[in-house]
Amino acid sequence: MSSEIIKHNPFQSMIDRFNIAADILNLDDSIKQKLQRPEKQITVNFSITLNNGNVQNFEGYRVIHNTALGPSKGGIRYDTAVNLDEVKALAAWMTWKSAVTGIPFGGAKGGIICDPRNHSKTELEKITRAYTKALADIFGPEKDVPAPDMGTGPDEMGWLMDEFSILHGRPIHAVVTGKHLHSGGSLGRVEATGRGVSIITLLALEKLKIRPARATAAIQGFGNVGLHSALFLHEKGVKIVAVSDVSEAFYNPNGINIPELILYYNLNNKTIKGYPNSVAIKHEDLLLLDVDVLIPAAKEDVITQKNAGDIQARIIVEGANGPVASDAAQILHDKNILVVPDILANAGGVTVSYFEWLQNSLLESWRISQINKRLEDILEKGFETVFRVAVKHNVTPRIAAYIIALKKVAETQSVKEVALEAPLFKQN
Ligand code: NAD
Repeated sequence: MSSEIIKHNPFQSMIDRFNIAADILNLDDSIKQKLQRPEKQITVNFSITLNNGNVQNFEGYRVIHNTALGPSKGGIRYDTAVNLDEVKALAAWMTWKSAVTGIPFGGAKGGIICDPRNHSKTELEKITRAYTKALADIFGPEKDVPAPDMGTGPDEMGWLMDEFSILHGRPIHAVVTGKHLHSGGSLGRVEATGRGVSIITLLALEKLKIRPARATAAIQGFGNVGLHSALFLHEKGVKIVAVSDVSEAFYNPNGINIPELILYYNLNNKTIKGYPNSVAIKHEDLLLLDVDVLIPAAKEDVITQKNAGDIQARIIVEGANGPVASDAAQILHDKNILVVPDILANAGGVTVSYFEWLQNSLLESWRISQINKRLEDILEKGFETVFRVAVKHNVTPRIAAYIIALKKVAETQSVKEVALEAPLFKQN
């Protein structure tokens, strides 16, 4: 088959990595099958009346991958490309992400097929409230706790919290994280994923003995994750030479002034299109620049066997979920490129979501210094553990992260499964 017609499937990429880790752990087939599949997958259909009076139907999903470690946790994506296999992969990654970082949550994900840029704020509110109503029995602070993902943010989370509270007749803040501060959100949550990506990037640079002030980076995606990753790395002295969003990609070998670009973005309807102080490049060329760090922070499967051979970066830090397809792994490994996997690199979001959930449950409000310190401690510990296990088993950091996560979830799952009498690990 020619590489041109290979259709990448993020769920298959997840399974490929899962199987390698499961084989190293000698995991029994029954538990392996159990952990590959979601516990629940729900499809909902609902309609809203648009501003122009027309009625539009929408399809949405919620997939609960696993709840062995705690209530399931995971974002909600609004995008035209949302599909069940994508949501299934994203839900499983949430399970592994919490397990790697030691957050007591399981994994879930949701999505609605829609283009949020084509809807007014009122329409987005109606869509979010209708989706919440349809899933009111699934969500809950001790059951399933959504958060933002691509195309959603604090507004959507606030509407979800409000609708859920109305349906239950009392305020229930802990049902969702990533809310505005005035709706019970946490300090530091908006920027948490990007802050986490920057913490992990600095640790990866240190591993390769590259000083931040001498390092260059290219960042794909300038939304929540890309923008904040760019800002924090810029503040640490890393020269960001290229950024992109869906509209345009820019390159400036002298380094892009990120605070100035953010100002431009905020004044320009949240896009970098037309930013003057750089040259426009092709979207796909951003990934191939000769930089120390490449941060794909937009969507999955952007690095595949088709372009992996041309990547020049020394380190790839996966800001997005699943940006490196499994068929690119060996090529990147052979090129000695250090890939820091999504389930570690972008875990800052779920970590501060956990802090928000704790604050809501305990009726507390934490200081930002406390939040950032705890975030840093958790990610540093996660990074050290992943690299220690990678050395121990002579595997990539990604497979090491899967080994850690799978072992933890499998052990907990086997305790929960009273009916499961088969051994957890194969008897040789
Ligand atoms: P977002 O909607 O805020 O931003 C996405 C960005 O990607 C936008 O700038 C968009 O224009 C850009 N983009 C889309 N297609 C592109 C393309 N083909 N080329 C270049 N840019 C493109 O979304 P986000 O919350 O920043 O999420 C981005 C990724 O990070 C997703 O994979 C998401 O699952 C993952 N993630 C997000 C969080 C979070 O807290 N928001 C946490 C962990 C992981």
